[in-house]
Amino acid sequence: MKIFEKSFTQQEPIPEQGIEAAVDVMRSGRLHRYNSLPGEQSETDLLEIEFAAYLGVPYCLACSSGGYALHIAMRAAGLQPGDKVLCNAFTLAPVPGAIHNSGGVPVLVDVADDYCIDLDDLELKAAESGAKFFLLSHMRGHLADMDRIMDICQRFNLFLIEDCAHTMGASWNGVKSGTFGDIACFSAQTYKHVNSGEGGFLTTRHPEVMARAIMYSGSYMLFDRHFAGPPKEFFDQIRYDTPNYSGRMDNLRAAILRPQVSNLDAQCEKWNRRYIIIDNIMAGCPAIHVPARSDAEKFVGSSIQFSLPGFDVDQIARVVQISSERGVILKWFGNNEPADYTSRYDSWRYIQDMPTLPKTEQILSTLLDMRIPLTFSENDCALIAEIIVEVVRECQN
Ligand SMILES: *Cc1c(COP(=O)(O)O)cnc(C)c1O
Repeated sequence: MKIFEKSFTQQEPIPEQGIEAAVDVMRSGRLHRYNSLPGEQSETDLLEIEFAAYLGVPYCLACSSGGYALHIAMRAAGLQPGDKVLCNAFTLAPVPGAIHNSGGVPVLVDVADDYCIDLDDLELKAAESGAKFFLLSHMRGHLADMDRIMDICQRFNLFLIEDCAHTMGASWNGVKSGTFGDIACFSAQTYKHVNSGEGGFLTTRHPEVMARAIMYSGSYMLFDRHFAGPPKEFFDQIRYDTPNYSGRMDNLRAAILRPQVSNLDAQCEKWNRRYIIIDNIMAGCPAIHVPARSDAEKFVGSSIQFSLPGFDVDQIARVVQISSERGVILKWFGNNEPADYTSRYDSWRYIQDMPTLPKTEQILSTLLDMRIPLTFSENDCALIAEIIVEVVRECQN
């Protein structure tokens, strides 16, 4: 019997160049981002400059986490307590958590059969709720039809914040994910596309938004020391009115991240080679459904999602169990009991007037998810996919 033995939570080591730079930072003792010498650009400054250049946007703020970036993004967007925020029902807990943290009220939008946000439900809820903010989570790297998204945003005058935790390196029609919206947020947490343990980025084209984000992030009155930030005059009006919500990036993590950002595209290619191997093998099993993806979407296959449409709850639970006994770890988004990193929308009970979303529940009920760490070889990926196919066949009867 085929068994897989590697760990699904083992990421690659930090590039040697990053380790050396991190050691240099530690030797210097100057870990705080503003603890730089006159005229010096700190590792954090350089990281921001490089990530802004990668994305092709003028402004970038590195901060303490992706969830933190989402939180201050909404505040920098001008969200007031009680304001409604349209948001995917299928996402991870830090997303509604960030809305709550900023005083907003999530308006959950259904998931569609392709695992993207349901655009009909989005239009309906935009009209019904009167929300002026839209936090679009490109959940698990699935990019919805961005042309239609932008059209909806324009018609309903929505301020768009993109959650790019799983689309760093992805694009739609050649346009990078994170450059469609008014603000984009990224994560550098260990299981995302770059790894500094914790960390995040906020990017935008709007100088006044970035000025507020920098103040919120805890710049004190050192805001003019941001090289990927707007000119000083943008801070004149807001510097006394914007609270310091301390959540800075530090030079140690920035040093670890810089070589990863410069190598990001090559890493994305590696993910996609692995994804395609798994996808092709699973395509040979009719019980497994992997939704087709648009030609416009250049995704990053750092994880794969599939469903078992003909399977009931017990069968899915068996697939998860037997796969795990054979070393293949699948996450089940339909599980009644929130487990591990996954939870279903109905476990975020702090949300006011929580709707019931039968369509989302139905789609999530058979939805499985698997990480593809780059510590897996291409042969490992073939073995994993073969195991999944065998287990699915075994549980079919
Ligand atoms: C990880 C994640 C976040 C939050 O990022 P952190 O850096 O862990 O705070 C937000 N959205 C999605 C979809 C994520 O997967």
